[in-house]
Amino acid sequence: MTQEESLEKSPQFRRGAGPLTRNVSDSATADAIRLDSGAVPHRELPSRRSLRFMIAVGLVLLQVVTVAGILVSQRLNEQRALRTHMMRIMDGIIVEIQENAQGFLLPAQNVTALSKRLFQSGLLDWTRKDDLERYFFGQLGVVPQIDAVYFADLQGQYLMVQRDDGGDSAGYRVKTIEIQDRVRRVHNKRLDASRRVVAYVEDAEDAYDPRLRPWYKNALATKELVWTDPYVFFSSQQPGITSATPVYDNRGSVSGVIGVDIRIGLLSEFLTRQNVGDAGSSLIINRQGDYIAHSHFDRIGRGGDDMQSNALTLEDIVDPIERAALSVFEDPSELLNFAWLRAQDKMQHSFAVDGRQFHTIFKPFPKQSPWPWVIGVYAAESDFIGPIQRGERNKMIGAIVVSAGITLVAFFLARRYMQPVVALRDEVDRDVLTGIHNRRSLFETAKRLMEVARRKGAALSVIVVDIDQFKNFNDSYGHTVGDQVLLAVVKRLQAAIIGDDLLARYAGDEFVLLLPGAPMQVARNVAERLRTTISASPIKTTAGEIAVTVSLGVAELTPEIEDFEKLFDGADHALRFAKAEGRNRVMTATDLFTAEDAMPIARSVQTQA
Ligand code: GH3
Ligand code: MG
Repeated sequence: MTQEESLEKSPQFRRGAGPLTRNVSDSATADAIRLDSGAVPHRELPSRRSLRFMIAVGLVLLQVVTVAGILVSQRLNEQRALRTHMMRIMDGIIVEIQENAQGFLLPAQNVTALSKRLFQSGLLDWTRKDDLERYFFGQLGVVPQIDAVYFADLQGQYLMVQRDDGGDSAGYRVKTIEIQDRVRRVHNKRLDASRRVVAYVEDAEDAYDPRLRPWYKNALATKELVWTDPYVFFSSQQPGITSATPVYDNRGSVSGVIGVDIRIGLLSEFLTRQNVGDAGSSLIINRQGDYIAHSHFDRIGRGGDDMQSNALTLEDIVDPIERAALSVFEDPSELLNFAWLRAQDKMQHSFAVDGRQFHTIFKPFPKQSPWPWVIGVYAAESDFIGPIQRGERNKMIGAIVVSAGITLVAFFLARRYMQPVVALRDEVDRDVLTGIHNRRSLFETAKRLMEVARRKGAALSVIVVDIDQFKNFNDSYGHTVGDQVLLAVVKRLQAAIIGDDLLARYAGDEFVLLLPGAPMQVARNVAERLRTTISASPIKTTAGEIAVTVSLGVAELTPEIEDFEKLFDGADHALRFAKAEGRNRVMTATDLFTAEDAMPIARSVQTQA
C-alpha cells in the first residue's frame, strides 16, 4: 500500500485531514469573524448565535438592573422610614410613661408639701394628734396611690396612717409612738374600711425608730422635699419610695419630718400595659441603677422585693436582651451623669440578640421633675415592623416574578421580531443558488482559519474546483440546466467533504474548499477524491444525463504567504494549469514550478506576488 492509499484509508483521514484538523476545529468558533482585507471590503457581522445572545443578555440585564435598582432604593427608604416610625412610637411610649409616672407621683408630693405648709402655719400640730390622724385619713381618701402618711419629730415620736390590705378585708393601720417623761409608748390600731377600730394593741417590744429610716435621714440631710430611692417599706414589706420633707417651727428650726409613701409596684403595672412587643420591655431606673419600675420583672430575674440597694450590675440580669439594652450604661458614672442631665436628649442604640434586631431609647425625666430617673424602652424590630417587612418581602418577590415574566415575554417577542434580522444575517453568508457559503463568508472564515493555523503551527490547504466547459452546458441546454448541473456538483462535493472543511462558491462554476489541518499531501488526495466523485457518473438533468468533469488546483499555506488572496491565487493558478493540461485533473501550486510547460503560469504567479 502506498503512503497515499494508507492515508486515505486511515480513520483519521476519513474524519477530516488528520489530528491537526481537530486541533483547529476545537478552537474555531463560528462567531464574530472579522475580515481585515484591503482587497475584499467585507464588514464584520455578528453571528446568529451572538445576535440571540445579545438580545437575551441585553433584556435580562436591563430588567435586572432596573428592578434591582428600584427595589434596593425603595427598600432602603422604607427600612429607614420604618425604623424612624418605630423610634417615634417608642418615643411616644416614653413620654406616656413619663406623664403617667408624674401623674402618679406628683399627688404624693403635693400631699407632702401641703402637710408641711399646714404644720408650719399651725393648722396641724403634734399635740392635736386626733386632728392629725383625721387629716392623714383624709389624704389617703383623696389620693388613692398613697400607701401611708406619717409625721415624726426629732425625739422619735411618730404618727402614721397606712392602708392595710392584708388579712380578710381592706382597712387601715395607725401607729403611734409617744414619749412622755422619757417613757416610750407604742400603740398599733387596726381599723376597718369604714374606719371603725377593730383591734388595738400596745406593743412595748416595738423598737421602731423613724429617725433611722431613709426618708427621715434624707429629708434632714437635704433640708428640702426629697424622694428616696426605692426601698422596702417596714410595715407592708412592699417596694416603694417616699416623698419626705422637713417641717420647720416658727423659729426656723426643724421640728420634724413628713413622709408620704407610695408603692411603686403600681408603676410597673402601668409599664406592663404599654405595648412594646413580645420581646420588648420598658423600665424606669434611678441614677444608682435601682429599678423603680419594670414591665417584666419576672423576665429579667429580679423580684419586686429585691429592689433595695439593688444597684445595677449587668451580671445580675438574667435576660440577655435586657443586659444588651442596658450595656450603654456599663460605666455607672454614665448613668449618673445622664440621669442628672435631665435634658431632652435621649440615648438610643441598636443591638442584636439571637439574630433579632433591637432598638432602645433611654430618656431622663424632664429637668423640672424631682426624679433623677431614666426611662428606657427597648423592642424587637420584628415585633414592631415585622408584618410590614414581611409585606415588603412579598412585594419584592412579586416584583421579581413579574419582571422575570415580563423579561421572558419580551425575550420571546424580541426573538420573533429579530427572526428576519437573524435570517437576513444568515443570507449574507450564503450563496443564493446553492445555499453553501458565499465568497464573503469564505474570505471571513479563511482569514480566521489562517490566523488559527499560524498560531498553532498547523497546516491549512485550499482547493479550487472549476467545472470543465461549463459554458457549453449553458449554451447547449440553457441556464436552467446549467443551474441543475451546478447544484448537482455542489451536492457531490458536499457529500465528499468531511468535518470542518468549508465549501464555498467563489464565482460562477468555481468553488473553493478550505481544509484546516490538512497539509498539501492530504489536500491533494482530497482533491483527487472530489474529482473522481464528480466524474464517476453522469449528472441527471431535465435535459437528460450529462457527463461532468472538474479541474482542481491545490495550494498549502506556507510562511511566505501573508494573506488568503495569495493562498487562493496559488490554488487558482494550479487550476489554470490543470485546465491547460487538459482538464479533469488535479494540479498543485508546487507542480507549477516543477513542470516545464507550467512556466508561463508560474511566471505570472511570480510577477503578481
Ligand atoms: P473551463 O473549462 O475553461 O472552465 O470552461 P468554462 O466553459 O467552464 O468557462 P468559464 O468557467 O469561464 O465559464 C463559466 C460560465 O458559467 C460562464 C457563465 O455564463 C456561467 N455561469 C456563471 N454563473 C452561473 C450560474 O449561476 N448559473 C449558470 N447556469 N451559469 C452560470
Ligand atoms: Mg469552468
